[in-house]
This record gives sequence, structure tokens and C-alpha cells, in this order.
Amino acid sequence: MGKFALIGEKLGHSFSPRIHSMLSDYEYSLKELAPDELENFLKTTELDGMNVTIPYKKAVLPCCAHIADAVRRIGSANTLVRRADGWHAYNTDYFGFIYMLTSCGYSPKGKKAVVLGNGGASVAVVTALEDMGASQIVVISRKGENNYDNLHLHADADVVVNATPVGMYPHTGEAAVSLDAFPNCRAVFDLIYNPSRTKLILDAEKRGLICRSGLSMLVAQAHAAAEYFTGSSIDKSRIEDILHTLEKETGNIILIGMPGCGKTSVGEELAKLTGRSFVDADEEFFRTYGISAGDMIKAQGEEVFRQGETKVLSELCKRSGLIIATGGGCVTRAENYPILHQNGFIFYLERGIDKLPTAGRPLSQQSSPAALFEKRKALYEGFADFVIDNDSGSIEDAALAILETLK
Ligand code: NAP
Repeated sequence: MGKFALIGEKLGHSFSPRIHSMLSDYEYSLKELAPDELENFLKTTELDGMNVTIPYKKAVLPCCAHIADAVRRIGSANTLVRRADGWHAYNTDYFGFIYMLTSCGYSPKGKKAVVLGNGGASVAVVTALEDMGASQIVVISRKGENNYDNLHLHADADVVVNATPVGMYPHTGEAAVSLDAFPNCRAVFDLIYNPSRTKLILDAEKRGLICRSGLSMLVAQAHAAAEYFTGSSIDKSRIEDILHTLEKETGNIILIGMPGCGKTSVGEELAKLTGRSFVDADEEFFRTYGISAGDMIKAQGEEVFRQGETKVLSELCKRSGLIIATGGGCVTRAENYPILHQNGFIFYLERGIDKLPTAGRPLSQQSSPAALFEKRKALYEGFADFVIDNDSGSIEDAALAILETLK
């Protein structure tokens, strides 16, 4: 089936091997190269093809025998395939971006587009928007004529695309612009894929706009590369299947619910069943501040505790693939919703009020669990992606129900 790789200077953790393993049977590895190794590597490697990332997307071009039209226009390639006359260069980011738009039914035809950032990815985005018929495309660049100080000139934009790294892990919660600047905007696309929902995407979701994150583009560009690698067409429906698999594998499983509803026990059971790490947000609070949640509430009041809890959740929830048990009252702060939602599936564990313990739970002691539940029920339901019964069965039943839901 051939041998392929992703080349770049520093690759760190990459989704590419996992994505390609779901697209075909060929071998796919990661190869880090220093700049002075690139030319010789391209001459001597036995690879049949490769994906290319920063900083070699332009640097590979002089070593190629054929350059596809899109590569010529964009000025960079992210896919090379060995043919009889040498390397052929393609740019599948272009196709990945077009897929990101068309897969949610958005067409920029006749519309004004704003593209944030002026790097390599931005050129692929602009080229694709041109080909899709956008009537005007404005690139916002920090030092350019169109910059972050004159966004008001583009308040009529129909679509905003983020092609900057702003908001990428670990700097989640940041965005290059506020969508307030674009009151007519109908669609927002962010090339970033970690976290799965950046601040910009969360903001777009909240406003009910069409939006999609960069994971769809990443999988779609890999799909196009796999077609070049294998020389055969691969069913397009695989893109969404792979996307859902990746979202499930990388997304956090977040448990919310009343104090004592079983979040810790169910979380630990899930960790046993899946091999994922389990983190209890209350224990993380203690590790961070050296005082328990209960003692902090008694000593400094609930508001001070909640501020600390939000900071702890911000750090925890930007990570990936964890099982996180939250404190029962985290839903009382609206700002915790995007923090939990950015990279996770939120499960609300329901348990009968009569079964909830109150010992060691200061807020459940101050007002009865029934009164607390009355205040919070709608909040739990509002935060939840899924509701899981933890009343009628065992802890294992609840954990299995969560895994079944994720399937
Ligand atoms: P890049 O060259 O490093 O950065 C793109 C541009 O972002 C820069 O040229 C700069 O433009 C702007 N920028 C950088 N730091 C900024 C900051 N702190 N504030 C505001 N603007 C800033 O990256 P790239 O290769 O073009 O990629 C851009 C993003 O797209 C990255 O996050 C990358 O991971 C992602 N990407 C995703 C896919 C996918 O398949 N989903 C594919 C390619 C790239 P100005 O200096 O002109 O302001």
C-alpha cells in the first residue's frame, strides 16, 4: 500500500497518523527534519508521498517536478506524491477549506468575506473563497492596511474566517476579534482544531450563526491527500465518520449534577472502563489552592470559591480526552458553560433528591437538597448535552450508559 509520512520541523502531537489510519491501509509516520536536511531528504527518501507542514510548505517546491494549479496560485504545497518524473505537489488545505464550508451548507458566492491573518493558511483560504465566488475578500493583518483598528470598515461581512493561531491550545478563551464587529455576519469558520470549539466558534454558536471548527478541514484535507496517495477515490462520507470518531476520542467527558449524585464514582468507573484519566475538579481545587472547596466556602464565602473554581475548570477543560467530575454548583456561573463545552461532552447525572448525601457538603447543609435542586435543575438541563439516569441502576450502569451515548 506504500509508505507515507508527515514532514515538518517540529511535529509534537499530530492527529495525522490517526486520521490516515482511518482512511486507508498504508503506513503513515511522522518525520521531523531540520531545515538543512530537507533537500537531501527529498532526494533520498523511499517514501511514496508525504504531507508537508510548517515551515516547509514553500521550501519543498523547488524540489518538485510538477506543481498543481492550486499550489501555483497559493504558493505552497502540503502534499507531495512520487511519480515517474519526480515529486508532484498539491495543496489539499484548499479542498479541506471548501469542504468545511459546503459541509454546513454555506456558500460565499456574491458575499463579502473577512479573513483574519495573513500567513500560509490564509492564502489557501482566500484562493478557495475566490473560486467559490465571494464578491469581496478582505484580509485582516496586524500591520496591514486592513487591520484590527479599522474592522468597522467591514461590518457588512457575511462570513468571518479565522486563519490566525489566536485561541489555539493552550491559549483557549482568546479570539482575534469580537463578532460584535460584524453585525451582518451569518457564518464563522475557524481553522483551529484544538480546542474543538474556540472562543470564536463558541461565540458564533451562541449567536446561532453557521459555524464549523478546523477539525473538519483537517480531516477533509487528509481525505484529499489520501486520494492522491492511493490514486483512487475514497468515499466522502468517511470524512464525517472520522470526524466523529476523533471528537469522541479527544473530547472530555464532563459530569455535572447535584452534590452527591455520583459524579466521582461514575467518573472513576468510566476511567476503569476506558483507560482515560479521571480528574475530580474539587480535588484539583484543593491541589491548586491548598484548601478544600467546603473550607473555602466557609472561610471566604461562595463567590470567592466560585471564582477559584472557574480558574480551575479553565485549566482542566482545555485539555483533551479527560473524564472530569465537576462540583455540583459549577452550573451557577454562566461563564463556566463555554469552558466546559469547548472540548467536551457534558453529561448531567440525575439522581433522586432523597438519595443525595449532605454530610461534608456545606451548600447542601445551608439549604436543603430539594431547595438547591429547585434553583439548579434548569441550569443542569441547560448545560447538558445528555442526561443520564443514575437513580435506578448501578454506578456501572450509568458509566455504560454514557459510553453507549457516545457511540
Ligand atoms: P501562521 O503563518 O503561523 O499564522 C498565520 C497568521 O496569523 C500570521 O501570518 C499573522 O498574520 C497572524 N497572527 C499570528 N499570531 C497572531 C496574533 N497573536 N494575533 C493576531 N494575529 C496573529 O500560521 P498558518 O500556517 O497560516 O496557520 C494559521 C492557523 O490555521 C494555525 O492555527 C494552524 O494550525 C491552522 N491551520 C489549520 C488547518 C486545518 O486543516 N484545520 C490547516 C492549516 C492551518 P499578520 O501578522 O498578518 O497579522
